[in-house]
Amino acid sequence: MLYQRSSALFKDAQEYIPGGVNSPVRAFKSVGGTPIFIQKAEGAYIYDEDGRAYVDYINSWGPMIIGHTDPRVLNATVEQMKNGFSFGTPTELETEIAKLITSVVPNIDMVRMVNSGTEACMSAIRLARGYTNRDKIIKFEGCYHGHSDSFLIKAGSGAATFGNPNSPGVTQGTAKDTLLAEYNNLEDVKTLFEQNKDEIAAIIVEPIAGNMGCIVPQEGFLEGLRQICNENGALLIFDEVMTGFRQAMGGTQERLNINADIVTFGKVIGGGFPVGAFAARREIMSHLAPLGPVYQAGTLSGNPIAMRAGFTTLNIINNDRALFNRIDQVTETLDIEIAKIFEEKGIPAHINRLGSMMSVFFTEQTEINNFTAVTKCNHERFNKFFHHLLTNEVYIAPSGYETWFISDAIKDAEINKTLDAVKSFEA
Ligand SMILES: *Cc1c(COP(=O)(O)O)cnc(C)c1O
Repeated sequence: MLYQRSSALFKDAQEYIPGGVNSPVRAFKSVGGTPIFIQKAEGAYIYDEDGRAYVDYINSWGPMIIGHTDPRVLNATVEQMKNGFSFGTPTELETEIAKLITSVVPNIDMVRMVNSGTEACMSAIRLARGYTNRDKIIKFEGCYHGHSDSFLIKAGSGAATFGNPNSPGVTQGTAKDTLLAEYNNLEDVKTLFEQNKDEIAAIIVEPIAGNMGCIVPQEGFLEGLRQICNENGALLIFDEVMTGFRQAMGGTQERLNINADIVTFGKVIGGGFPVGAFAARREIMSHLAPLGPVYQAGTLSGNPIAMRAGFTTLNIINNDRALFNRIDQVTETLDIEIAKIFEEKGIPAHINRLGSMMSVFFTEQTEINNFTAVTKCNHERFNKFFHHLLTNEVYIAPSGYETWFISDAIKDAEINKTLDAVKSFEA
């Protein structure tokens, strides 16, 4: 049996951890079967408890952009640990990473570190509300901004996968301040602004969406959001937790040349450690405690081990910007070759890609531009595809509402192994 030890570990885990996992999508509930338990990872590969090595296209859901267990990050982090694990005081390192981030990301002067993407987005909307003195926010159907109450309204992958987009426990009072629009639909946004004049603090958006599968912003969509915010005195929040330091050193703002007012980060910024951040220009960030009245805090925020891992990772990328081109090229090759294979096989499929994010949708639709289009895809076939790849030691996200994350460790050998696996797929 392929997953013998994983099965036993999962059985045991379910006794003590709800669903056996500490984050729902890991349970393989939408694709079925047993999650693989991972023992270690290196470079392009993760190794399960049964001794199998998989080409990893999840990469911890994005953070491991330079591949797993990079020796430079490992050494720097181990050295840092020798000085202590956590102080709850300021450290020089926090200023160093803040200087680096503000120097490479457009349109921001100051940054506050937190411990997750969820925290970053939750704090960003509090700041936007405090700054504008308005209560409502607009989010897009299928976009995920972490699991804080205001965002658990049609929130993409996790929620979509489990068919309960509105989680129990989120009060009506909270939900009423979150307005929903369709992704890539500016008319929807304009209507909401007309109906809620002077009440909307901010629009929060994944500028390249990755939590309903990869959905690319259509020409003019982000520009339109920028303009609508300008006209209505609302802030534009780019949730770059997934896209930051992946689509370009300066994230989507740089790649697509659009300025946001507040930017949130996570994933790559921590190099695999629990880190998030939010950033804006000085005038906005000055509203944050202890400078201003908007409260936000964290016992472990700016933790030195996590900062060292993040700082080292960001420096590696910053000093080797050709990396972005390399991972984009690998993703493009996968896109083109996989599309070719499906065409030869007569399997209707559509691939969305921007940079080093992509998703394979099984569908006759020729465009996948929003959440509704994703729900119409053949998810049963996706699940079969997922398990076929897993059997062939290629590990993609266990849901048709997720993105592939390409790392710089993925080279020709891994591409070929992946394409061979796709070739032997029988729909
Ligand atoms: C992953 C993700 C989050 C949440 O980050 P966590 O670290 O899991 O809390 C928020 N926004 C986007 C766009 C994400 O991809």
